[in-house]
Amino acid sequence: MDINITNKSDKIEFLSKYFAYIEAIRHYKVPDKTTLKNLLGVAWPTLQNAIKDFDIKNSPIKSNSEGFFLDRDFSIHAGISIGATQIKLYLCNFDFEPLTESYFESIGLKEIYKSLKQDDVRVADEKSVDEGYFCYNRENSVDGIAWRLKKIFDCLIQIDNQTQKLLSVGISFPGIINKDNLRIDFSPNIKCLRNVFIKDLLSIELWKRLEKNEISVFFEHDTQAASIYEKEALYCKSEKKEDYSSAKNVCCVYIAAGIGASLILNNKLCRGGTNSFGEFGHTPAPDLLVDKIQNSMLSIEEFTDKFSYEGITPTIEENQDINSIKKVTKHISPCECGKIACLESAFRRNVFDSYDLDNYLERINNQNELKNFNETHPYRYRVLKEYIGYMIGLLINFFNPDIIIFSGRIVWEISQLHNELNTIKANSAIGIPAQNCNIILGTQKIYSAAAGTAISSYHSLVNGDSFCDICW
Ligand SMILES: [Zn+2]
Repeated sequence: MDINITNKSDKIEFLSKYFAYIEAIRHYKVPDKTTLKNLLGVAWPTLQNAIKDFDIKNSPIKSNSEGFFLDRDFSIHAGISIGATQIKLYLCNFDFEPLTESYFESIGLKEIYKSLKQDDVRVADEKSVDEGYFCYNRENSVDGIAWRLKKIFDCLIQIDNQTQKLLSVGISFPGIINKDNLRIDFSPNIKCLRNVFIKDLLSIELWKRLEKNEISVFFEHDTQAASIYEKEALYCKSEKKEDYSSAKNVCCVYIAAGIGASLILNNKLCRGGTNSFGEFGHTPAPDLLVDKIQNSMLSIEEFTDKFSYEGITPTIEENQDINSIKKVTKHISPCECGKIACLESAFRRNVFDSYDLDNYLERINNQNELKNFNETHPYRYRVLKEYIGYMIGLLINFFNPDIIIFSGRIVWEISQLHNELNTIKANSAIGIPAQNCNIILGTQKIYSAAAGTAISSYHSLVNGDSFCDICW
């Protein structure tokens, strides 16, 4: 019996049924029958019998003389990340590769590509590199976010009308999301997202159109989405010099507008009891050791940086005790999380002298400010290293991961920091767990959260629920 599985519900049934095989083929690149049997414990004839109900020619599992591979054109998935600095859209094929301009041209949808690109806020030379993602201004109101989502979904539905292949869309948010009723309790860096039911961000009419086109929409947490993308990327050997694909305990730290961590433990994404794993940006944090170093122990450059950053270069009187010079203490208002001394606010204040989010975002979005940060701000750079060390120490000593992946603008842009990550690690965590933990930079894709959200939506489609268990 041949079933035409170009039909969406048949496709989804196929994905659910053969998910483990598909993922093994995805990760182990053209495995042969013996490798597949060793990986999954089921012999190929058993699988072949099981899938003969489906028309194998139309399944995503293809084979050649060397082994099995996936049909990248089997389906399309989309991820939208609602961030504090930008809203990003990533569209990918079944191999999670981005859909580029030439793909849109090949399916006769150049106009849709143009309309998606219309409001892209990247500077001209960034935009000319066709990386297959779209980047829009942040929105500060629920209405604004709903407006942007509608514009994006209008295009997505047109893509689906043309291809019939868009199976799932994911939308990710930062903050505390109640997964039982899909409500964002609060999002420290997007203030309007407080007690907002996520489903209300799309109109009833839009939900109906999505249902008609059989496009499933799921939700995700943005830090976890970024780690889903980074974990997937570990299997792409071409991208990395070293092979970390066998790492089962993977910790991801994202430092951008906020500070978040996520953990994949024994190859399973940790979500926590209430879906709030990894909000360690909002744990109480000390004003670290550097503050305890006496002024007389600083170099002249460090001393100048410590004080002049605030616009005040103290004049030192003759015979004055240099250690008596104090920083001006500004008024510190509590973080949106309600704590006055959480890691995020201490980090912003002590490293970037920023007392509010907008000022901080302005600083970290300025590439020149970050590029030579270690030279222009030698004192602040020491403080930065202390905070990075604090995070590394906590994560290694608590979770004993095989690998920590750092992402986000601050770690990417300050190149000297990459060189020193191992030294910082040695200085911050205990012996053997530290020795065995590799610290690497992530893929440096600024769309990692959007791409991870697209991948997560595929897992949710197979599992039938947002925030589902994701295993590798
Ligand atoms: Zn906080």
